[in-house]
Amino acid sequence: MEKMIDLLTRISTLYNIPQWAVNVGAITIFIILVAFPFVAKKLLEPKYRKFKQMSMYNVLWRWKYKKEDIVGLWCYCPKCLSMLSCDDENCRATEELQEKITFFVCHECGGHEQGRVVGGDRRYAISLVKREVLREIRTGEYIATMKAFKDAALVEEKQEEVLEEVNPEEIPQSEEVLPVEPTTEVQDTIEKTTSEEHTVTTEEKKDGI
Ligand SMILES: [Zn+2]
Repeated sequence: MEKMIDLLTRISTLYNIPQWAVNVGAITIFIILVAFPFVAKKLLEPKYRKFKQMSMYNVLWRWKYKKEDIVGLWCYCPKCLSMLSCDDENCRATEELQEKITFFVCHECGGHEQGRVVGGDRRYAISLVKREVLREIRTGEYIATMKAFKDAALVEEKQEEVLEEVNPEEIPQSEEVLPVEPTTEVQDTIEKTTSEEHTVTTEEKKDGI
């Protein structure tokens, strides 16, 4: 370190450059050298490496890449994004393919089924999704899938914003609120939400909760 400081001082004296400028230059070069391998790796990365999630069988699938391989592929709840459980117990009890069913269950959402695959157990389901991911990468379809995914997320975000705006709890009670006709979009959202809530209540009643 002392040798380094000595060298920087000598450069400063030799070329008549202020000491602080030499120090800043040295630090900048050091940062570039350290960061270069990471930046280069990111830039040279194939485009499909950004394709890390998609919807299939009504649930969300996420994975990572290790070299050319797809690793850590698992399903997540489309509503709360929690990891799902796979119930494939029935697959061992039957030889009939149509009776072999894997259910994707979210414990965070009341243990309800979020989706299912007919024809095999969880390994079968994962192999089907993996095959689809590889096919989309091969054909380039993954670009459209990624875009659709992004658009859907934006729509959801907007809907949440609209819901927050129309939530009466958000309005301070001391302020006088003038009656405003909700827009068609807002009305649709409210109706949709109300019907969804109703469905959940009915289901819960059926389950005896
Ligand atoms: Zn959930």
